[in-house]
Amino acid sequence: MIHDVAVLGGGIAGATAALRLAQAGLQPLWIAPPQGDGFKPGEHLSAAALPLLKALGSDAILQSQVHRHAHSTYSAWGSHLLIERNAIVQLEGPPTVLDRSAFEDALTALAIQTGARRTYETVRDVRIHEDTWHIGTNSDPVTARFVFDATGRTAVVASKHATRFQADKLGCQYALFKTTETTAPRPVTLIEAEERGWWYMSLLANGQVVLNFYTDTDLSSFDNAELESHAHRTTAIATYLTEHGYRMLSRPARLTTNSTWIAPAIGPGWVAIGDAAAAFDPLSSHGMTTALWSAIAATDAFIARDRQKMQEYADSVAKGVRDYLSARSAVYARETRWPNSPFWARRHATAHTPAAQPAG
Ligand SMILES: Cc1cc2nc3c(=O)[nH]c(=O)nc-3n(C[C@H](O)[C@H](O)[C@H](O)COP(=O)(O)OP(=O)(O)OC[C@H]3O[C@@H](n4cnc5c(N)ncnc54)[C@H](O)[C@@H]3O)c2cc1C
Repeated sequence: MIHDVAVLGGGIAGATAALRLAQAGLQPLWIAPPQGDGFKPGEHLSAAALPLLKALGSDAILQSQVHRHAHSTYSAWGSHLLIERNAIVQLEGPPTVLDRSAFEDALTALAIQTGARRTYETVRDVRIHEDTWHIGTNSDPVTARFVFDATGRTAVVASKHATRFQADKLGCQYALFKTTETTAPRPVTLIEAEERGWWYMSLLANGQVVLNFYTDTDLSSFDNAELESHAHRTTAIATYLTEHGYRMLSRPARLTTNSTWIAPAIGPGWVAIGDAAAAFDPLSSHGMTTALWSAIAATDAFIARDRQKMQEYADSVAKGVRDYLSARSAVYARETRWPNSPFWARRHATAHTPAAQPAG
């Protein structure tokens, strides 16, 4: 049996595409490995995601107590002074600090309930032959006429059928922290620049804190074991951790967070969505919103069988990347305290002409 459509990848983009296709009465074959047990970082859901979740009929997911509204974000960027951005001025409502696993589980459950057929496999090999995709996993191979590539930065289909570009080498070290104190900690999200890169810290709804440090992967950084001691050399973040008695709970881990995209994001019989199409610096807080938006836009074009609409989707991804690159340059240009630091010097040098290279 040749499936009409397959969705590859089980993150927010994959779950959203599977849900949207199922809502249109299609029965997408949805192939992705089971979600791991560990903590998945990337929890700051921008307020721009709220109308998208409403359009999907899944905004009730955010009402769970495992997520918290992020009313205040503070940043020390361009100076040591902490500047508050208060959600009161945002018309859509406040951003949300997600329990990321719970959010993805809820979207997944909704997609399956609505009619998506999920198989818990990793795609090992995917080839197109005579307009039919042959998708190899550890079980019997399957076939489909159209594939949605939602496999994140792996981009199993898109990276083989279009050019991948990369604008930087940003990476992240992250860990969870916990406190034994019983008084409720102040609910904040903090961003703090330093000479080698920048820090992000956010209180989760369960009282733990997630701490991320971002720098370029080719620059000398510190060992994972030193993450906690370096966090204590910051200013605002160190004060928060000390004030509330936070100690590191989990061994730090590392992830790639560079800016990378595929052009074009569509091809014969396939479309890339989410990070598979364009993955952004987490400073933008755009990743999850883009995963939702791109999955909705691409599935709507597919459901309408409208080539023009699909082309418009690819054009919007390309424009989104251009807009993102210029916003990213403007934001990094605001931090001028360390002109001799390679991390900041690179970003200032590319402020007007982002040095995107085809990825090797
Ligand atoms: C450290 C960090 C912090 C971040 N912070 C934020 C933030 O605060 N706010 C924000 O909006 N965004 C943030 N992001 C970005 C955000 O997490 C991503 O943009 C978002 O996860 C993209 O969703 P996705 O579904 O496209 O990809 P992913 O979440 O990467 O999901 C990809 C899926 O594909 C599956 N897969 C991979 N290979 C295969 C294969 N061969 N076969 C089948 N399945 C496969 C994976 O198992 C996974 O299920 C952050 C990212 C990182 C790494």
